[in-house]
Amino acid sequence: MMGKVYLVGAGPGDPELLTVKAVRILRSADVVLHDALVAESILAMVRPHAQLVDVGKRAGEKRMTQDAINQLLVEFSGCAETVVRLKGGDPLIFGRAAEEMAALRKAGVEFEIVPGITAAVAASAQARIPLTDRESSPAVVFLTAQQAIGKGPTEIKRFASADTTLAIYMPNGRYGEIGRQLIAAGLSPQTPCVVVSSAFRVEQEMAWTDLAGLRLVSPPESPALLIVGAVARCREEIPAAPSSLLGVFKIGLEATRR
Ligand code: SAH
Repeated sequence: MMGKVYLVGAGPGDPELLTVKAVRILRSADVVLHDALVAESILAMVRPHAQLVDVGKRAGEKRMTQDAINQLLVEFSGCAETVVRLKGGDPLIFGRAAEEMAALRKAGVEFEIVPGITAAVAASAQARIPLTDRESSPAVVFLTAQQAIGKGPTEIKRFASADTTLAIYMPNGRYGEIGRQLIAAGLSPQTPCVVVSSAFRVEQEMAWTDLAGLRLVSPPESPALLIVGAVARCREEIPAAPSSLLGVFKIGLEATRR
């Protein structure tokens, strides 16, 4: 038997932000290989007899190599009909999908991509700020503060531009350094910034500051995303945690039992 592999985006964590297609495929999956970032309430949608494999990697403590994950995907497609590779956010943004797709192509395995809501989009929604603005910010750049092992941190200053919003993934606590780099590259120390951690999860937190103040931000529990630019100005009081979320998580679980 030759199965099909779906690279599915799980979004930021709230089950209601899955696409209808992602839910359908999750419910028909025989095997699900998932990231550490994927919420329990989403994993609960998988059929009871389906196999769940946690291939999650956390910075520092490597659990499974990317090569091993690629190989698992190919192997499972030889013995299961529907294989899901479930990733946080969107599978094609900082998700190592290129390597997985290359392995699947090489092995002649059929695959399909199911997009998801990426962290920058989720974080801006919760902060209630736009990522672009026709007055001040015609562009948004999605970048990571963390490059592949051995390549060192990304030179974030290359992307500094007064009219560009920066959505910085994996800041990994390096807020002070990122602020210094962007100020050194010519951005105003008063450029607004917001750090949104665990967007659309119950433990969601937000820290509003500016480039000069970034060094004072205490690293929140990961995952966190840093948005820099004129758009990232706090315009209103925002509740610390979305009170509706607990209810939403329950709804997600109930839907699964049906
Ligand atoms: N494919 C994912 C990104 C994977 S890289 C996506 O499209 O969102 C992991 C990084 O994503 C984290 O370090 C963090 O910067 C960001 N991230 C993921 N989920 C998040 C969330 N719920 N809130 C804030 N940032 C998140």
